[in-house]
Amino acid sequence: MQYLSTRGHPERKRFCAILLEGLAPDGGLYLPEHYPQVSSETLARWRGLAYADLAFEILSLYIDDIPAADLRALCHKTYTAQVFGTAQIVPLKKLGDAIYLEALSNGPTLAFKDMAMQLLGNLFEYELARRGEELNILGATSGDTGSAAEYAMRGKKGVRVFMTSPAGRMSPFQQAQMFSLMDENIHNIAVDGVFDDCQDMVKAVSNDLEFKRRYKIGTVNSINWARLLAQVVYYFAGYFQATSKDSEKVSFAVPSGNFGNVCAGHVARMMGLPIAQLVVATNENDVLDEFFRTGVYRVRGSADTHETSSPSMDISKASNFERFVFDLLGRDGAQCKALFEGALGSSGQFDLSADPRFAQAATRYGFKSGNSTHSQRLQTIRCTFAEHGVLLDPHTADGLKVAREHLQPGVPMVVLETALPIKFAATIVQALGREPERPPQFAGIEALPKRVLSMQADAEAVKAYIAKNCPQPCM
Ligand SMILES: *Cc1c(COP(=O)(O)O)cnc(C)c1O
Repeated sequence: MQYLSTRGHPERKRFCAILLEGLAPDGGLYLPEHYPQVSSETLARWRGLAYADLAFEILSLYIDDIPAADLRALCHKTYTAQVFGTAQIVPLKKLGDAIYLEALSNGPTLAFKDMAMQLLGNLFEYELARRGEELNILGATSGDTGSAAEYAMRGKKGVRVFMTSPAGRMSPFQQAQMFSLMDENIHNIAVDGVFDDCQDMVKAVSNDLEFKRRYKIGTVNSINWARLLAQVVYYFAGYFQATSKDSEKVSFAVPSGNFGNVCAGHVARMMGLPIAQLVVATNENDVLDEFFRTGVYRVRGSADTHETSSPSMDISKASNFERFVFDLLGRDGAQCKALFEGALGSSGQFDLSADPRFAQAATRYGFKSGNSTHSQRLQTIRCTFAEHGVLLDPHTADGLKVAREHLQPGVPMVVLETALPIKFAATIVQALGREPERPPQFAGIEALPKRVLSMQADAEAVKAYIAKNCPQPCM
């Protein structure tokens, strides 16, 4: 399998070449040259597989530069009941007749990002050892991504993580999760500033090409193709649990921010998984809902980006969205470049409402959308708890609220649970007047010793810190 850029660059690369890279050289995102097709015979064969074996089958359609036995071992090392809490890894829970909740949040950091990041950690360690290289991951987080990255990379050989976060702005639980890690290769940096300051520091370091090369600086952000690929697996696993035969269709509702999660659903659907609708749920930051309703994609400024009670969906632009638009435009890289570099660069928006292909987002690709507000989020949490005794996190509540608006007779709707409520306890208390349940392994986590360095919002300071903690510059 070869990978290409959404902006038309002529070069083609294989999986391991793009694994440790971010953007393509022309600023585009990597996608496979084609989507392998899964026949109904293959679906029938996959139906009975354990999650790790299913992951291997799907990954091996996209990865041909890791020996099969090694890839299978990596899948089995990643998707264990010990790490993800159950043998099914992503069990479905029924919420009434036609609605299911797919549990993606029982990994080490209690959010769905573990599903991909745990595999990424093992893939990185494998590939770096094979090359005899090291990697210093530099990131900025306001919560879920940073902790998922740290729990995936802790103790891994050849990898160090330098994670910046805005001091005092994550929930106490999220801070405790990250800062209690004592692994030598994990470095928490609390920045005196907001999330944008952290991101600016990371950008400034990455723009220093000499430093970046000398210290092998890399990232783990959601545009990484390997993360997206890992997420494709749980659409298949959810489908098999919600159906009994392979002619049935299922819809998925996905709490969305950067469009990584639902883009994996798009890939699964393009492979031939019988998905009726892909329902994109946003919060008050409705960039994506606006596009699917109107055809206008309008990036927000930071003044127009709301801080909400489903904070992991507070985005001003959706970094993976370009992948879907590339497919929508019939994979025309030049046109994709004109939209994402040209129009977005000059006016911060583009408008496909007059393009006949825009209608295909719904008709041909199955996309639907909706949004949810703070009071609707609280209402959904309350009603779901009252009716089903199930406690939702605020992001999953947004997903369920929008899912209900798109139910079709005879088609099960699977809502992806993207986090557990304990991560966002303050909102649960607001909705129900009580604290959410805490998984036993997290008892008293806030009282554990913390390992975190305070720093001004200064890129030179973070460079000096990396240099000091990277024994020999990794040439
Ligand atoms: C990251 C995240 C999302 C958004 O996922 P995208 O892939 O960015 O669309 C939703 N909910 C939670 C809890 C998250 O951590």
